[in-house]
Amino acid sequence: MAESVERLQQRVEELERELAQERSRRALGGGDGGGGRARIEKMSPEVVDSNPYSRLMALKRMGIVSDYELLLFDYDKVELANMNRLFFQPHQAGLSKVQAAEHTLRNINPDVLFEVHNYNITTVENFEHFMNRISNGGLEEGKPVDLVLSCVDNFEARMTINTACNELGQTWMESGVSENAVSGHIQLIIPGESACFACAPPLVVAANIDEKTLKREGVCAASLPTTMGVVAGILVQNVLKFLLNFGTVSFYLGYNAMQDFFPTMSMKPNPQCDDRNCRKQQEEYKKKVAALPTQEVVQEEEEIIHDDNEWGIELVSEVSEEELKNSSGPIPDLPEGITVAYTVPQKQEDSVPEVTVEDSGESLEDLMAKMKNM
Ligand SMILES: [Zn+2]
Repeated sequence: MAESVERLQQRVEELERELAQERSRRALGGGDGGGGRARIEKMSPEVVDSNPYSRLMALKRMGIVSDYELLLFDYDKVELANMNRLFFQPHQAGLSKVQAAEHTLRNINPDVLFEVHNYNITTVENFEHFMNRISNGGLEEGKPVDLVLSCVDNFEARMTINTACNELGQTWMESGVSENAVSGHIQLIIPGESACFACAPPLVVAANIDEKTLKREGVCAASLPTTMGVVAGILVQNVLKFLLNFGTVSFYLGYNAMQDFFPTMSMKPNPQCDDRNCRKQQEEYKKKVAALPTQEVVQEEEEIIHDDNEWGIELVSEVSEEELKNSSGPIPDLPEGITVAYTVPQKQEDSVPEVTVEDSGESLEDLMAKMKNM
């Protein structure tokens, strides 16, 4: 009860601040949306500089989305320390991050529909609501969202998103930047198909470190807007590839800013994952794969018959069975799905002359003395 009263008070304060800002913008003649543009009902494919979609429409051949919707969840407030993200503005200090983000984004593009939730998703009550919006908050109300993006800075919030998405079977993308701000990663998680966040516990959990000890008052994590920008760019690029169906969508892509190293990999889910819904999704995925029609590749060997072979020419393979057997060297242990393209021929031991170096037992001094006498 006390918590909800406090939240209502915060909300009233936010609304008052928002109203004051809106009034000052209107007084300055900003008009609708604070100097922004009016909504566009339909995207125009016209390639003119006055069309805000002309650059996107150039990608039309790839298939472009006609409508967007963003649901934003966050409980933080904008602080002056956040200005280095180059997204929030000083006058937004004190506003909730979701509200400030909505203002900025709506001003840039009023055609996008936003729904913002200024709360902590890790509390029981909010978690229920969060789950509900994921499963019903799609563009068409009642339908699930296409994708959930995680851009959070703590383990607890990631685990909460993981729990929700495993239960709902919701595909999501996780992203993060290290505390020293020089490395980051993005990860695509398809419940049951790829490793979930709980399948491979990160260091914080594996080493059993209390996360609260990592975030101490006055001791703040570093933040480089450039690293953030690169990771955010990689994340959104992967989102576009996933939603618009082009290119190869990365399951995991790391970024090491010190060496400019971008490791990629994909991880299978852990059958012993702590999350029971992850294990359930794995079973369902297996069933789904088993039900798919198997594509059998039938290779018909064509026998070459020469009806009219007046010169008696015979086709003989240049490589005998024996030679083929000998050429198949040791096959390395490879992960599933990868096979060798060719093998290294085995060494023909009898053809290699044996070279032996006899140890004469002479010391270096003796050898030097011999050479001088030569
Ligand atoms: Zn898992």
